[in-house]
Amino acid sequence: MFEFSNRSLKRLEGVNPQLIELMKKAIARSPIDFGIPADGGKRTAERQKELYDKGVSKCDGTITKSYHQSGNAVDVYAYVDGKASWDVEHLAMIAGVVLSVAAEMNLNVRWGGTFGSRVFKGWDRPHFEIRD
Ligand SMILES: [Zn+2]
Repeated sequence: MFEFSNRSLKRLEGVNPQLIELMKKAIARSPIDFGIPADGGKRTAERQKELYDKGVSKCDGTITKSYHQSGNAVDVYAYVDGKASWDVEHLAMIAGVVLSVAAEMNLNVRWGGTFGSRVFKGWDRPHFEIRD
């Protein structure tokens, strides 16, 4: 059974408590380990703008806001064989666990790997967001 490192827990600070609870339950059940990358939790508008300017996020933080700014999104990476992995098969395994636990908790959670092109114009497999 896996659990978050202190570093990952620190990166979850400020995130919606329901989303944190979901991720803690998911990692305990996940067949593979995973963690929270830098910028994977709550972001300020300034940080969001920096990520937009770097080309790593579609949201500029002001006109287009990320769910990360309200603490309603989390990014993950897989941790396999001693190193970080963003391979689709690893992220899809994590998503399966996260979405099944979310259903049990009656939470409306979307996985970036299933986003349509209208919002994200592509795939965002490390990303999970909670909606009202
Ligand atoms: Zn994200």
